[in-house]
Amino acid sequence: MKLMPLLTLAFAGSLVAQSYFIKGPESPKPYEAMAIKELTDYLAKRIDGKLTVGGASPVTFHVGDTELAARHLLLSDSLLDDEWHIKSIGDNVILNGGGTHGALYATYHFLEDYCGIHWWSVVEEYVPAASSLTLDALDASGRPAFIYRDMYVAQSGPNHAQLRARIRLNGSDGVKMKAEFGGSFRYGPPSASHTFERYFPAKTYLESHPEYFSLLDGKRRDGQLCVTNKELRKEFLKKLLENIEKSHKAVEATGMPAPQIYDVSMNDNRSRCQCDECKAAEEMYNPSGLYLDFVNELAVEVKKKYPNVFISTLAYYYNEQPPNGGVKAADNVIVRLCDTQTNQAASILEPCNKVYLDILSQWKKHAKNLFIWDYSIVYGKNMTGLPFASEWHYGDLFRTYHENNVSGIFWEHEEPHMADMYELKFFLETKLMENPYLDDKQLIETFMTCYYGPAAPYVKQYRLRLNELRKERNGRVVWFPIFSAFNYIDDNAIVEFNALFEKAESAVKDDKTLWARVRHARCGLDRLICMRKGYGWSYHGPALALDNKIDVAAAYRRLSESWPAWARQFPGEETLAKQVTEMISLFDNAQRKLPPPEVFKNRNFYDFYPNGFVNYRNAGKLIDDPTSPVGKALRVNADASDYYKLPFALGYYDNGNKKTLANVSYQRPHKKGYAWYSGGKVRIPHDGSIFVTRSWYVSQKTGSINSLIGKEYEIYVSAKFTGPLYWADEQGESYIYIDRMLLVEPE
Ligand SMILES: [Zn+2]
Repeated sequence: MKLMPLLTLAFAGSLVAQSYFIKGPESPKPYEAMAIKELTDYLAKRIDGKLTVGGASPVTFHVGDTELAARHLLLSDSLLDDEWHIKSIGDNVILNGGGTHGALYATYHFLEDYCGIHWWSVVEEYVPAASSLTLDALDASGRPAFIYRDMYVAQSGPNHAQLRARIRLNGSDGVKMKAEFGGSFRYGPPSASHTFERYFPAKTYLESHPEYFSLLDGKRRDGQLCVTNKELRKEFLKKLLENIEKSHKAVEATGMPAPQIYDVSMNDNRSRCQCDECKAAEEMYNPSGLYLDFVNELAVEVKKKYPNVFISTLAYYYNEQPPNGGVKAADNVIVRLCDTQTNQAASILEPCNKVYLDILSQWKKHAKNLFIWDYSIVYGKNMTGLPFASEWHYGDLFRTYHENNVSGIFWEHEEPHMADMYELKFFLETKLMENPYLDDKQLIETFMTCYYGPAAPYVKQYRLRLNELRKERNGRVVWFPIFSAFNYIDDNAIVEFNALFEKAESAVKDDKTLWARVRHARCGLDRLICMRKGYGWSYHGPALALDNKIDVAAAYRRLSESWPAWARQFPGEETLAKQVTEMISLFDNAQRKLPPPEVFKNRNFYDFYPNGFVNYRNAGKLIDDPTSPVGKALRVNADASDYYKLPFALGYYDNGNKKTLANVSYQRPHKKGYAWYSGGKVRIPHDGSIFVTRSWYVSQKTGSINSLIGKEYEIYVSAKFTGPLYWADEQGESYIYIDRMLLVEPE
């Protein structure tokens, strides 16, 4: 009696293994073979039991240009590029689409939309626990809203091309999309941007043809080209046509499509030719009008020989403003507008981003083909990865792009090991590039649930509150932010967020993978804590009550424990881990408080260490110095500039009001070895710096420490001078060593 159910189960098990079959065309093309392989592999992980579609089981999938697809008029050459169809007919399911991507896209849409599988990055994916799956009859189709969807990859690895196919990016910046991934929509040589210098490198042409180059401060120099020069235009066209011909020939043999776009655009700097002709043209048409006139002339000629080729140019820096005087881009010109001005933490529809929205909405009147170059990452020393909740605004952004006639998007979102909430933002970007009208809040919900499991409510609450605070306090995070841009996250917010993360970590404490993800979500906040509360400084005295609730040493410990391991998952693992470890080492003082110097031991003061000093243009070098009580010093080579000669100056500069608030000079050093130099008294403004030496290259910013602002302090700097510049009996090179700066509360 007891054996019967077991036998029945075993019998049923062998039957359900046959609940689907996968068929392709007789001789599948490489991308069809890839689609079949992916469907096979993922269904094997996803289905345990029975797959039923529209009441039928077993079902047969027909992937690519199959006989069944032909009968239903769903062959790749009769459909538009990137269009995809999922269609069930009785117990058969067609997965196919247009061009070289359609079959792949249909397959991936089936896996994502119906099987619940997601791809978060090159190293992480989500496959629901294997089970039976019952689906209604299938009849879905689509085509990406933007014809060009590309994302910059800084460290390319073997999985990048595969990931791009899975998430339906069709560009190939930094990644080679081979035939099995259907190739890519791509820019031809020499490069996808800033090609002026590729076509006319200064080292080859400046001497023989100075007139091709921009006139800057009265001299023809490397910078940009002089695009009003007629001879240059002729030569540029010649090179461009040769280039197109050569690259088309190179592709012919491979059977893959030739590049569709060739870039002709300014170099990556803000110089503008100041010759009379260029200046006059700018006056009439705006800088962008002048550049478009040049690009149009080339494009019209290219069209005669290559009617399907587009010429792409950048609306970047001074060219971001649309042209005047009725200038329009030719029909085969693509204008790629760069977003270098917006507050990334806010929606494009908020008043603070009106400048960019206006530029965007004007451009659509001047260019039939409008692409965008945008960012969801911020740059600048140690700024990448500090928290800002841009995810809540991507829906607005991508919809606005689509409504304003944008047809292609290039996205800069590199540094997955470091950028803030990379996986969440990446997921949204790729989904919305394909369809900006998806419910973005629902996408965030999906991500949170699948990615963080039981910790999802806490992580989501952190992100919601981050956005609320930014809005309340007018936080502004531009692409190169300064550290005080993150002041909207004040001490109370840090306390609140830390509490949420404690709950989040505890909710997933038994799941290593989820726990590591929560730790990584916390990374930006922990870095903010270390940078603000202990990055190169400490406080000696009756610390503020709130400061005591923010455990800097714990933030430092979390970063050390979790961040390098996270970085090691990505291509270039050792380099990335090293980069991260070096950054953490900057926070060393977060846990190591030096004893007060003897002379100040009964005073209250802020103590700044050399690893946090501003070292503009690497004027100094951070070195180990056993003669310093700090153990380290910023050493400036005093022979490098007259500014380091005596007298030695120090004081305080108000950056916001551009005013010197304190300045004390010394005709000679106090003594050999380290000594304290007073810089006078200062009432600390919102944004200012202690400066040391007359060059001002070495300084200490104070604006990020809120408890300092508005109060009066005495400035002290510890410095050591060596070499003949300072001492008649010394020889060799001269140096100034700075190992400590103090802001001491008045007695
Ligand atoms: Zn010029």
